[in-house]
Amino acid sequence: MKCRNCGSELNHCILDLGTSPPANAFLSREDLNKPELWYPLRLLVCEKCFLVQTEDFVGRETLFNPNYVYFSSFSDTWLKHAKNYVEMVTEKFGLSEKSLVIEIGSNDGYLLQYFKNKNIPCYGVEPTHLVAEAARKKGIETVEEFFGIDLAKRLEQAKGQADLMVANNVLAHVPDIHDFLQGFYILLKPEGVATFEFQYVVPLIKQALFDTVYHEHFSYFSFTTVSEIFRVNGLKVFDVEHLPTHGGSLRVYVEKEDSGAFEISDRVLNLLEEEKKEGVRKLEFYSALQERAEKIKRDFLMFLLDAQQKGKKVAAYGAAAKGNTLINFCGVKGDLIKYVCDKNPYKQGKYLPGSRLPVVAPEMLKINLPDYVLIIPWNLKEEIIHELRVKYNENFSFVTALPILDLI
Ligand SMILES: [Zn+2]
Repeated sequence: MKCRNCGSELNHCILDLGTSPPANAFLSREDLNKPELWYPLRLLVCEKCFLVQTEDFVGRETLFNPNYVYFSSFSDTWLKHAKNYVEMVTEKFGLSEKSLVIEIGSNDGYLLQYFKNKNIPCYGVEPTHLVAEAARKKGIETVEEFFGIDLAKRLEQAKGQADLMVANNVLAHVPDIHDFLQGFYILLKPEGVATFEFQYVVPLIKQALFDTVYHEHFSYFSFTTVSEIFRVNGLKVFDVEHLPTHGGSLRVYVEKEDSGAFEISDRVLNLLEEEKKEGVRKLEFYSALQERAEKIKRDFLMFLLDAQQKGKKVAAYGAAAKGNTLINFCGVKGDLIKYVCDKNPYKQGKYLPGSRLPVVAPEMLKINLPDYVLIIPWNLKEEIIHELRVKYNENFSFVTALPILDLI
């Protein structure tokens, strides 16, 4: 396979998670009688540009199909994050009723609803049907297509250029990253700003946060590498922030290369320097990932086997995609985890891909009382533990498998 950024041959596999079905390919009851497609799940690093990337077997039309059921609005933490962002950028960039905001990968309108409340004109681009429909129900105009040069040209003709473009947790999902970013160049006003949030590769490698590796995530970025990718597409990074989301993310602010409207912040130079010290442009930085992931697997399996041996029942909470990577890498089935609760009604009544664990409503925690609740979206554990304790008032023990096995 060739690097999706620079085209070099990729020779360095840094993580082999065996095979797995696509992490959001939930099964219906009828699907249980059919076979599933399992694809190799491997992470590679390019020795030229150091872009970390999954080997591409599946294709985006298979991944982001009409039945795609990831809805951003089911997490209160995430909604709060979106609201704070809208307050911050509105103030910082002086957005008003005369501005235009476009979000790419706008999901169910979780973020644009806050711009709408402020009467700031906005619309979203979201290729998956069910979530686009959910956004429209909130009154958010949504273009249901994949984004790239072609769509950007049509939108620019029809609706003009944007003051602000937003892409949160979408950069990793794009197979052709250059086509995607050139779309931003086309659709942005000469002095416009675009912000991107994405999982940061440095904590992923150092803490082996391997459950965020799945087929939908094509790329994983260091700041050094992503800055270079922006640069070759005519975009200049002028600021960067660390965010706690997904175990460590970056928010990057870019303008058009020829704009010069913003001064480059010290944070940009500092982070580039910090990454140089970390060694993100050296292969050794990536070499211990497999070993770290296998240790997490062993600890998790030992916990599950020990619980089973002692006659304790384990259920899981949050049918997030990352859980499927963990569960399928560990080979866990229904004998070790009884069921998975999720608030999303589109997931309830379905089964996890691969492991085929049933997804049920959280109320099941009252009917079929577990001894342990495994929190799959460990990045939201405070929110979830609080919610379950308030709602169910049961003294469950909570457990997370990543970044290390933790009994709470
Ligand atoms: Zn490369």
